[in-house]
Amino acid sequence: MKILKFGGTSVANDENIKKVKSIVKNASEVKIGVVVSAFGGVTDLLLESLQLASSQDIAYKNKLSKIEERHFKVIKELFPINAQSGILSKVKSELNDLETLLEGAFLIGETTPRLSDKVVSYGELLSSFVISEYFITEGLNTILKDGRALIITDENFGNANIDFELTNANCSNHFAQVKEIITVIPGFVSSSTLGNATTLGRGGSDYTAAILAAATNAEVLEIWTDVSGMYTANPKLVKQAKCVSHISYEEAMELSHFGAKVLYPPTIQPVLTKGIPIVIKNTFAPEEEGTLITKSKNDKDKTVRGISHVGNITLLSLEGSGMVGIPGISKRFFETLSQEGISVVMITQASSEHSICVGISDKDAEHATIAVNTTFEYEIASKKIKPLVVEGNLAIIALVGDNMKSHQGLSGKMFSTLGKNNVNIRAIAQGASERNISAVIRKDDVKKALNTLHEAFFEENIKQLNLFVMGVGNVGARFLEQIKQQKKYLKAELKLNIRVIGISNSRTMTFNEDGISLKNWEVELVDGEKANKTVFIEKVNKLNYRNSIFVDNTANKEVSETYTSYLKNSVSVVTCNKIACSSDFASYKELKQLAKKYNAPFLFETNVGAGLPILDTLRHLIASGDKINKIQAVLSGSLNFVFNNFNSKTTFHDVVKQAQEEGYTEPDPTIDLSGIDVMRKILILARESGYELEIEDIKNEPFLPEESLNTNSNEAFFESLKKYEEDFQELYADAAQKESKLKYVAQFENGKASVGLQQIPKGHDFYNLEGSDNIVLFYTERYPNQPLIIKGAGAGAEVTASGIFADIIRIGNF
Ligand code: ADP
Ligand code: ASP
Ligand code: MG
Repeated sequence: MKILKFGGTSVANDENIKKVKSIVKNASEVKIGVVVSAFGGVTDLLLESLQLASSQDIAYKNKLSKIEERHFKVIKELFPINAQSGILSKVKSELNDLETLLEGAFLIGETTPRLSDKVVSYGELLSSFVISEYFITEGLNTILKDGRALIITDENFGNANIDFELTNANCSNHFAQVKEIITVIPGFVSSSTLGNATTLGRGGSDYTAAILAAATNAEVLEIWTDVSGMYTANPKLVKQAKCVSHISYEEAMELSHFGAKVLYPPTIQPVLTKGIPIVIKNTFAPEEEGTLITKSKNDKDKTVRGISHVGNITLLSLEGSGMVGIPGISKRFFETLSQEGISVVMITQASSEHSICVGISDKDAEHATIAVNTTFEYEIASKKIKPLVVEGNLAIIALVGDNMKSHQGLSGKMFSTLGKNNVNIRAIAQGASERNISAVIRKDDVKKALNTLHEAFFEENIKQLNLFVMGVGNVGARFLEQIKQQKKYLKAELKLNIRVIGISNSRTMTFNEDGISLKNWEVELVDGEKANKTVFIEKVNKLNYRNSIFVDNTANKEVSETYTSYLKNSVSVVTCNKIACSSDFASYKELKQLAKKYNAPFLFETNVGAGLPILDTLRHLIASGDKINKIQAVLSGSLNFVFNNFNSKTTFHDVVKQAQEEGYTEPDPTIDLSGIDVMRKILILARESGYELEIEDIKNEPFLPEESLNTNSNEAFFESLKKYEEDFQELYADAAQKESKLKYVAQFENGKASVGLQQIPKGHDFYNLEGSDNIVLFYTERYPNQPLIIKGAGAGAEVTASGIFADIIRIGNF
């Protein structure tokens, strides 16, 4: 004897029902009971139609026609024409009865739990009828048995309690007598001892099947659904979730109690008592093994078996200084909830003796609040207790596993993982069974929390970074190219999985929740929506991915002003844009503080020396207790390029032009030639060294004539360079005559910074600087005479892109 149960999706349409038929056909060597749900979505339609009818909204008729259409379509697809009319007219006659019930509710403008059960039972009654007829037409030896004649309950409508004595007798009698091999039974429906239709609660078809399995001592209970078993987390929310091949009853119960909908919690009880194994199988991939649920304990080394969540939770807290003195508060609180039929999903550890805190379903919140406040009316009036504090829009997230109790540190890891991703924990509970640790969090954080925890407990190795990239010009495009090339390596060697979720340039933006193809991003971007920085932020926050990183590859001030919004949502920021860190000190400080507060790194290595590890080195020096006394540096790859190539045989104009064309200058070359760019860099170095400095504090003696500094277009600027060629040649000749080279130098000493063009004599550290190289000399307490020197290519798109990449990897290892 076997019991097979097929859920709503498994019987949602004719195609799926055909799949069910072949599964049943293969299984029917022995007697089997086939329990079916309503066609997927029909239960909801029935409830909605009743809701509308009872609020006197005529739209209930639309829902009713939808229900009719769904059934008629299935019948027309499944049966040969000559067999259709009988089945259609039977279904139509049932639907007419249903319509009469709904009309009644419409006229009175009211519904009752009893009517609701009667209405909702039509889903399973109709599906089981159609499916059994189909099996018969297909030549399977089948009979239909009404679940209401088998499963007997009390009159607790909507969630009835089973009378096991009657029910077990009914079930075993039926299977002892039945001649047909296959009995099709509607799930979910039952009837009271008084003969009224009742139901077993949402998801209750699983329960029907379990009751049948236990009553008939079935060898196995097979739950056929739309996923290949019980997973380490809901596979629809966590892509990396894995199927658990074998799990204990207790673990399965705990997981389903905390929302693993794949199994309705009460299901386990009847089969557990008899030790009947449950197998969860996928109707759409029957060849897959699925999950076996039995009594046997797990292998000892598996601690956490799964992560679940229950949505729509409201937290009720009863608090007040007077609570300690008054006996029986807790008892009265729980009694009130129980008398009102409100089930408590979790009880949390109160932070003090002065409060009791429970999680209940959102739908019960209003009812519970009124009831509890009434119970404690006297205490509230006399100010011994505060009115109930109610907080909605929450969810419970739980780690489940048999062996968790014998392992320390799991809850620590759970909470620090959530904390790192800025998932705020409202309350904590450890189940008395010690088989779960659960936390109450915001509903909006559920997906992120499930994924981060899954990563921490099941994928320990791989960490996923989700990138949102703004600016895909010179630097940005190379950055994406580098990721594309390194993706495999990073996954294999550094256990980092980098996905680019959003891309924007100044014209358009595009998002792909599964990651944008790095081969094809240009096409996706062109087809994207109109670029908008605010919408971009909203999108990043709404997606609420773990390890989100905003990457700014622009030189745009407005973009730099969006960093605070990202950091405040725990989105890390990586930028090559210097504007933020070189604006006023207060803003720089704010960004650093936000990064700390929200656990979201803010990194800008490429602000100084492109890909050279200058800031990183500086930070390590300081972290290890060193102190920076003096910095001397050539920090402008652009100016270096210019002065290395400028001599008596070239013209200043042509060299600057070439530097611009080869991508060595900022888009606006005056930013480099005026010294502003270098001022920003030394400012950032000084600030990162721990000094409070503003850009106005930096001394700058420009070498460009006034006129060139104040042009209002690129063309005018280059014209002015032509005009002053003679002055530039003079600068060169003067240095050459002293066997010196021109270098643009930045200095920081005694809290003061300056920048300017200098003649560097032979033998100086700066003399042989080539191409676009940068050099930084750090004089510190530990390096007082011989400075710590960092030198190398300090400009260019490729090295800048790799510097950004390095920051991303730093965050990955964070
Ligand atoms: P049926 O209609 O077959 O009864 P349900 O929708 O009730 O199916 O349950 C199956 C669903 O349970 C899956 O589609 C999946 O989204 C959800 N689910 C939640 N948690 C888990 C989990 N840990 N493992 C598998 N499925 C889960
Ligand atoms: N049809 C019912 C529901 O949707 C019962 C079930 O499918 O298990 O809740
Ligand atoms: Mg279900």
